[in-house]
Amino acid sequence: MLNVSNLHVKFPTDAGTVKAVSGVDLSISPDEVMGLIGESGCGKSVLGLAITRLLQEDAIVDGSILYQGDEIHSLDKESMRKLRGKKIGMILQNPGTSLNPVIPIGQQIAEPLMMHMRMKRADAMDKAVSLLERVKIKEPSKRAKEYPHQFSGGMKERALIAMGLAPEPEFIIADEPTKGLDVTVKKNIVKLLKEISDKKTMLIITHDLEVAEDVCDSVGVMYAGEIIEIAPSNRMFGEQLHPYTRGFFESLPARGLKPIKGSSPSLIDLPQGCRFHLRCEHCMDRCRKEHPPMIDKEGRQVRCFLYA
Ligand code: SF4
Ligand code: MG
Repeated sequence: MLNVSNLHVKFPTDAGTVKAVSGVDLSISPDEVMGLIGESGCGKSVLGLAITRLLQEDAIVDGSILYQGDEIHSLDKESMRKLRGKKIGMILQNPGTSLNPVIPIGQQIAEPLMMHMRMKRADAMDKAVSLLERVKIKEPSKRAKEYPHQFSGGMKERALIAMGLAPEPEFIIADEPTKGLDVTVKKNIVKLLKEISDKKTMLIITHDLEVAEDVCDSVGVMYAGEIIEIAPSNRMFGEQLHPYTRGFFESLPARGLKPIKGSSPSLIDLPQGCRFHLRCEHCMDRCRKEHPPMIDKEGRQVRCFLYA
């Protein structure tokens, strides 16, 4: 369904060129739900934006992104607009800024349906109410008339999910759908994502391992702009191969809160060799000089010389 190969995204800045995404390869099959995990600033959101071609104007993109065989970066504006709404849907990050405070929620869900799918106002409003119902908002017709400030954090997230589902896309990219939610609210959102993902192809960008484990079929780990490990979800949660992945899992509250020493390299000034070598306990001579390729290890992939 989606095939990304050798994708590079760079941004020119005053301090130098930011290499946000370097040489990313990934493919997602129909009905697969892939999770993309990694700490903030590792390039995962930029990758999501590149797929929907929502990057800022000056981003430089190399490589290829094929969606059902079509090269996304060579589509004209009109074809891209169609693809973005109906085929590829987005569940945006941060309900605080993605919802307009002065427009009722129902209308915010209905408007894109009127604009992109040419639905009549009454039909679009009906659809908005049924979408609110689908994301388990109680009293949806009453709630549709309310403003974002009348919604709790969890309800706002549900409203964003409803907006993402509105054009009935085949493929959905969700960026940090559980960010900033407290534990019980998060559990319910995870449950909802699980229900939705049953019949959809999805890419879920998250720093939350619970989301990756409960909702995703496969998981890719990003570090300093690269994918450094990719595996079916059950295998990734059974055993992490890359030293960074292991460290990342152990650094999270549920798994011991043991921080990885050092910090991620600057995307402007990346180290030679393995991008993790300055922090790695297993660093060997060649790790300082050579850049490790993706290595196949019993059907899963890892970018580390320990498996060469
Ligand atoms: Fe560590 Fe070397 Fe593997 Fe990089 S390639 S993660 S430095 S062992
Ligand atoms: Mg992000």
